[in-house]
Amino acid sequence: MVKAGLIIGGGIAGIQAALDLADQGFKVYLVEKSPSIGGRMAQLDKTFPTMDCSMCILAPKMIECGHHPNIELLSYSEVEEVRGSAGDFTVTVVRKPRYVDEDKCTGCGVCAQHCPVEVPNEFDEKLGIRKAIYMPFPQAVPRVMVIDRENCLECGLCEKVCGTGAINRQQQPERINLKVGAIIIATGYKLFDAARKEEYGFAAYDNVITGMMLERLLSASGPTGGHLIRPSDGKIPRKIAFIQCVGSRDERAGILYCSRVCCMYATKEAVLIKEHVPEAEVAIFYMDIRAFGKGFEEFYRRAEKEYGVRYVRGRVAEVIEDSATKNLTVRAEDIESGRLLEEEFDMVVLSTGITPNTVDILKNPSLISASDGFFAVSNPKVNPVSTPVKGVFVAGAAEGPKDIPDSVSQASAAAMRASIILRG
Ligand code: SF4
Ligand code: SF4
Repeated sequence: MVKAGLIIGGGIAGIQAALDLADQGFKVYLVEKSPSIGGRMAQLDKTFPTMDCSMCILAPKMIECGHHPNIELLSYSEVEEVRGSAGDFTVTVVRKPRYVDEDKCTGCGVCAQHCPVEVPNEFDEKLGIRKAIYMPFPQAVPRVMVIDRENCLECGLCEKVCGTGAINRQQQPERINLKVGAIIIATGYKLFDAARKEEYGFAAYDNVITGMMLERLLSASGPTGGHLIRPSDGKIPRKIAFIQCVGSRDERAGILYCSRVCCMYATKEAVLIKEHVPEAEVAIFYMDIRAFGKGFEEFYRRAEKEYGVRYVRGRVAEVIEDSATKNLTVRAEDIESGRLLEEEFDMVVLSTGITPNTVDILKNPSLISASDGFFAVSNPKVNPVSTPVKGVFVAGAAEGPKDIPDSVSQASAAAMRASIILRG
């Protein structure tokens, strides 16, 4: 029996599962494909319904993970293959080259100051810029730079200015084999590609953005330092519409499930807009408000009554841009009044849904649910963290749309189940 566990994915669910297993004394390998752990939660400004600063509650867990004596963090790495069975898996992991030595880099950032290349920053949903050598975000763990070789000019400036000799452009991908007894999949989710809903104009109109883009615009560590501006002209938007269920509960998009978090994240973002720009008018176009969690209904009511957020029940048919002003006309059906509505806004925010982010590492079709494409569980009611493959567990949004508290709970449950296997 191998007494080590593997966690695939370093978002909040993977971090929690890793800490829970490691605190019980098991060796844990935490594999994350990006250069830093943190996942989607790291991009959020605040969390609903309590409005805690997302990074303030996430960063201590990230740091604990990075320093835990029982956790070996394999960032910028991907699981290539899994062989064996419960209690005795062999896992092949590919460590991608950072071109920066993890042991030598201090994260001082001098190299990035000198790097001449500027490209759109993925962490800021491409609203800001980063250099070709970069730290994914200021609180990254590990605190090590990475070189984006696709955009690197090979000018060698970073190498010249680095005082610790950390740059190593000769690095190659490295394959390692790990022996583990149990595996927890916590690969999170992807966001629905808003460009698929052509009628909302995401790809065509500058001032149609997604909820995650707004999250970065509202964040003090974001590309505008937390100043809410609209992309076309940098002006403060005074009238903003949210469109709900973009890529959720949508037969035409082939997605029948509810993404569970969009009603509340839109409500949270609407409240944040009112805090940033009190005179702003905010309308949320929705089908139903799903405020099912603890404190959610109260939060929704406060948004409406205290902050004056306007909730309009109706499906939006289309968004049309005025090419001169870049303002946007929303055409929708107001179900409650039974009238067709046409209203102009400065900016439109699409509440994009959650879609699966699966990895076919076990070459086992039973691992993926046929109905929605997320990872399957053997029994959603009485065994909601065990996959159909013995010794393999799932946590967080990898199993289906979920908010942060539910992801954390499921991660702790998965760690508990995994520990039973690891104890033999
Ligand atoms: Fe500093 Fe060198 Fe690391 Fe760049 S690579 S952050 S210059 S230690
Ligand atoms: Fe930037 Fe590449 Fe030049 Fe380094 S070698 S400074 S990463 S462009």
